[in-house]
Amino acid sequence: MVILGIESTAHTASMAIVDAEGNVRAIASDVYKPPSGGIHPREAANHHAEAFPELLARLVSEGHLHPEEVEAVAFSRGPGLGPCLRSGATVARMLSLRWNRPLIPVNHCVAHIEIARLLSGMTDPVLLYASGGNTQIIAYAHGRYRVLGETLDMGVGNFLDKLAIALGGTFPGGPLIEQWARQGEPTVELPYSVHGMDVSFSGLYTAAKVAFRNGARREDLARSVEETAYSMLCETLERAVAHLGRHEVVLGGGVAANQRLRGMVERMATPRGVRSFAPPPKLCVDNGAMIAWTGYLVWRTGGAVPVEESLVDPRQRTDQVDARWRTPPPGARSPDVR
Ligand code: AMP
Ligand code: MG
Repeated sequence: MVILGIESTAHTASMAIVDAEGNVRAIASDVYKPPSGGIHPREAANHHAEAFPELLARLVSEGHLHPEEVEAVAFSRGPGLGPCLRSGATVARMLSLRWNRPLIPVNHCVAHIEIARLLSGMTDPVLLYASGGNTQIIAYAHGRYRVLGETLDMGVGNFLDKLAIALGGTFPGGPLIEQWARQGEPTVELPYSVHGMDVSFSGLYTAAKVAFRNGARREDLARSVEETAYSMLCETLERAVAHLGRHEVVLGGGVAANQRLRGMVERMATPRGVRSFAPPPKLCVDNGAMIAWTGYLVWRTGGAVPVEESLVDPRQRTDQVDARWRTPPPGARSPDVR
């Protein structure tokens, strides 16, 4: 028995097969790379529409996908870019009808935390979700995942992508800035923007561009940006962990591939007696496996929908969906009650 997961919220078109024990059998992905500047939703959606048949064919020809084995088809319902979400949902609906299998909508942000929970074996972690379009601190409470803090403007990944282009680089910016930062010193003073549990990156973006124009070395700027931006994320994550009294943190999203961020989170967590875990990069970035696994959890707890109710929801919030698989049976003590 396996679940097919389909991901298409932004740049990445991905399909994956995961079984009921949580073994990731295969992932096939294709990432849309804008020729210049940021992502264009319609062009990305066209890319995905062309990519999915190839990804499906690849899974079949490599022997990973046997349609008769597929028990359910899961897809990202949101949040994400409408046209991109619709390409993935269309493929999911088509396969669900063709194979006569249940169709399972999945919240993309919840999927990042569920794959990290699966891989780490942790029960009740706080998630730092740091991706291109999203930057959030998420934890479970009272039947749903709650957003405890988030970016007030752009996602940290988009910030790094935009900044790298302004500094003469190309997409994706995060890995490039990481590379430059290794040869730099944190000597450029930049605005540190934490507002309660939220963060913002636009001031940092402007200040970094101005510093570059005024002659700051790209490497020093990259290092300073990493120190500032990741400290902001660590501060809000630490506050969430302290407030909730949790003992586990997980990272998700493409920016969680960053070594400096991983190291900072670990240095924050270890002295507090908090375990930290970051999935391997291919499961940090957007991928079909997290959708398949979360789809399995949603399906097991009655979350299948008929095609007529499978509309995508580009603005779906993490706390709009019930995490029924996390609800303790009647009489049991809720894990978040202390
Ligand atoms: P996602 O939106 O989760 O698919 O992740 C894509 C984002 O992750 C892009 O904004 C990338 O620039 C960013 N990213 C990928 N690798 C790294 C890295 N090593 N350091 C920082 N950011 C990264
Ligand atoms: Mg993501």
